[in-house]
Amino acid sequence: MADALDLCGNPSSVHAEGREARKWVEGARAAIAKAIGALPKSLIFTSGGTEANALALAPRLGRGEGPRVERLVASAIEHASVLSGGRFPHGSVATLGVTPDGLVDLDRLREVLRQGPPALVSIMLANNETGAIQPVAAAAEIVHAAGGLLHVDAVQAFGKIALDMNELGADLLSLSAHKIGGPKGVGALVVAEGVSDPEALLRGGGQELGRRAGTENVAGIAGFGAAVTAAYAGLEAETLRLDRLRNRLEDGLRQTSGATVFSRSVDRLPNTTLFTVPGLRAETAVIGFDLAGIAVSSGSACSSGKVQPSHVLQAMGFGQETAQGGVRISLGWSTRDADIDRCLEAWRRLAGGLSNNQGRNTA
Ligand code: PLP
Repeated sequence: MADALDLCGNPSSVHAEGREARKWVEGARAAIAKAIGALPKSLIFTSGGTEANALALAPRLGRGEGPRVERLVASAIEHASVLSGGRFPHGSVATLGVTPDGLVDLDRLREVLRQGPPALVSIMLANNETGAIQPVAAAAEIVHAAGGLLHVDAVQAFGKIALDMNELGADLLSLSAHKIGGPKGVGALVVAEGVSDPEALLRGGGQELGRRAGTENVAGIAGFGAAVTAAYAGLEAETLRLDRLRNRLEDGLRQTSGATVFSRSVDRLPNTTLFTVPGLRAETAVIGFDLAGIAVSSGSACSSGKVQPSHVLQAMGFGQETAQGGVRISLGWSTRDADIDRCLEAWRRLAGGLSNNQGRNTA
């Protein structure tokens, strides 16, 4: 990225400086496309996952001469940028429930698709709160049999598990760089071969084959490419390493305090754990961990300093208190056993304080 920042050329210019900048953009495009089994030209660089989702969720998309989609069906656990419905009018957006384990309900999907015109269905590959990996390939078969298209928000899963766009059956796929150690503010939408391009959100200079105008973020894109290359080199070994560390962490959390780990019985990303303990306020845990120098997050969105109930946990059938009490810990490439020890030590102190307080409250 530092080298790319030194480039003065605009990738759309034909002079040598421009061609040099273009080389960096196309190198990253090729690396990212290769990682997901897609053609480089199918990738549209965007300002991140939010823009990729907004670009993807457009009415009238279709495959070849096939039917055009007229409505959106999104799972209830999608990111807010999908649940906002993109460019579909309010009345043409339906949500799809999930099981108590946090997996999209495929029977319900069949039912919803039988009930109306062809739909664009949006199902994420892995949930950003629980890490639960969704049955996307099975959903794709159902969606295609009903004449619809499938959009997959792969922002959380990309770079953490192996991913092949064709095996998934995804027609559109959203990616973001910053979830895998790349820079913030860059991502991509991938449009499968044969699927019509969504109408551009930004029009102007014709960049990205007219699908997203504006001079490319060359340094950001270079960083995105580098992060993908790093993430996919040795992915299998890294998955096993993180899985072991995450399980150690969860065993410790459960032994210390009887923590409930959400979506524990289904396939999850190896780096994510979302847990709760009765009586625990997510803010208390976030602050307590922060004081110990450990950055964790409340499972639910935090707006205006107040923790809102998690729409994901609510969709899984949990009540308001539980939906407000989720604490999410994410592991990464730099996490080691010593970090898990430190985290569990901090948790023991926090959980001890919690039970003392509960004792006081009930005394
Ligand atoms: N989709 C999912 C599942 C996410 O977790 C996020 C970010 O948290 C986004 C989309 C948005 O991506 P970005 O922050 O790149 O706009």
